[in-house]
Amino acid sequence: MQGDVPFQCSKCWETLEKNECYEHQGKVFCEDCYMDILSPMKACDPWAVHSAQSFLKGKDKLSTLTPLQLNIVNYLKGKGEATIEEMMENFNLAEEVLRREFAVLRHMEILKATKKGDKIFYLLF
Ligand SMILES: [Zn+2]
Repeated sequence: MQGDVPFQCSKCWETLEKNECYEHQGKVFCEDCYMDILSPMKACDPWAVHSAQSFLKGKDKLSTLTPLQLNIVNYLKGKGEATIEEMMENFNLAEEVLRREFAVLRHMEILKATKKGDKIFYLLF
């Protein structure tokens, strides 16, 4: 541990532990910013914003989910964790579609991602 230079997210400047670092195009990002970069629709996605806001107001996160989001949650509940490739196959969905759902679920702190080797696994919060 000692001697480690603290890592910082290039986007939000959060200080990161080494195992929380995600690299993209030579820059280090925190998990959230990294996922944001990978999910192209997020900034102008009214549904993501809407979901995040309704979560802030409401108590029951799951009641605001779409059927697809609930399917993802249930799938992860059963499996523990899964890669996007697994879920693309399981749900027969395009990667962008899943990434957008992940962005919503991450905003709501229902789902999170973890990096193992060069793969990203999604799991429940
Ligand atoms: Zn960040």
